Amino acid sequence: MSIDRSSPLDLVRAELRGFAGYASARKSGSKGRVWLNANESPWPSPVDPGLALNRYPEPQPAALKARLAEIHGVPEESILLTRGSDEGIDLLTRALCRAGHDAVLITPPCFGMYAVCAHVQGAALVKVPLRDTDGALCIDVDAMLAAFETATGAFPVKLVFVCSPGNPGGAAALLTEIERLLAGLAGRAVLVVDEAYAEYSALPSALTLFPRFAHLVVLRTLSKAHALAGVRIGITIGDVRLVQVLAAIAPPYPLAQPAVALALKALEAPAIDETRRGVGRILFERGRLASALQQLPVVRQVYASDANYLLVRFHAVEAVFQTLLDAGVVVRDQRSQPGLADALRISIGTAEENDALLAALAASSAGIDAEQGAGRE
Ligand SMILES: *Cc1c(COP(=O)(O)O)cnc(C)c1O
Repeated sequence: MSIDRSSPLDLVRAELRGFAGYASARKSGSKGRVWLNANESPWPSPVDPGLALNRYPEPQPAALKARLAEIHGVPEESILLTRGSDEGIDLLTRALCRAGHDAVLITPPCFGMYAVCAHVQGAALVKVPLRDTDGALCIDVDAMLAAFETATGAFPVKLVFVCSPGNPGGAAALLTEIERLLAGLAGRAVLVVDEAYAEYSALPSALTLFPRFAHLVVLRTLSKAHALAGVRIGITIGDVRLVQVLAAIAPPYPLAQPAVALALKALEAPAIDETRRGVGRILFERGRLASALQQLPVVRQVYASDANYLLVRFHAVEAVFQTLLDAGVVVRDQRSQPGLADALRISIGTAEENDALLAALAASSAGIDAEQGAGRE
């Protein structure tokens, strides 16, 4: 059963609907023996590792798309490969939002790139804060739908971002909530579910809803569980018509060929198995770190996490942050995020790294105890 039968193309900026983009040399003329059409060097560079890097790469590498389609159980044509999912967020914002007219709905505290891309495109921001319930930061679907209806009079909301698992909160959204959101939006906006951390979550992916909702876009990345942040490969999965528009406005050759070759290797069975074992180790450490943190007097609250980090509220957060920095332990400051004035986000590292964090925090606990008594700012 499909609820939104209309095309997401109706939401795309009118001037981009039939836009073909740059006609790159690599796109035209696929059969050839003598390649004299792209002003490339006819011979490889002396530093070429045997990848024929004198040639421009495929704009959308077919083998990598085929492998990802197989892994995620979606048609190849629904996939757009980008330089990290950051670029997917940017392309979606540019394709859908008219500067000065349209809006993007976000749920702070959330990943910063949604607001950055909206700002660059001149789109307004509608903010619907996450709800702090039962030790987790969760989307408030009723409030989101209400804000959508209210905003749409002044600024049509074209894009709704849900980060699941949420960064920095850590909680994944329930599929029933995503579905309720999709039904409520009823094809009047594109819902983007950013699943950068899905591999760490036990909850089902929004991809299971993909066949039923033309206005659902799911973002994945090789940057987190696949341990390839330096390779910059993101995956946007959406309706074919929308993906075609995004491909047309994307740079002509977004993915470097060595990056594509590495990504393909990382998606072969042995590497996938190793990735899965890595996720298992992170989940074990996440549990261990969460319980150890809860024992520390400087810790006020540890949020439940479905990802590879923990959001933690501290007593005397400034002293804690400084002590950690002095010990050479760098965590992510969340104090400028709404409602998180006492919070830090801690990525799960190796057992040794997590021990180093705990040791520094224990020392900090002792220091703060002596100075001012635990529990006071
Ligand atoms: C890390 C992260 C990304 C960006 O990933 P890249 O693929 O490296 O660009 C996207 N969304 C969220 C929520 C993230 O935390």
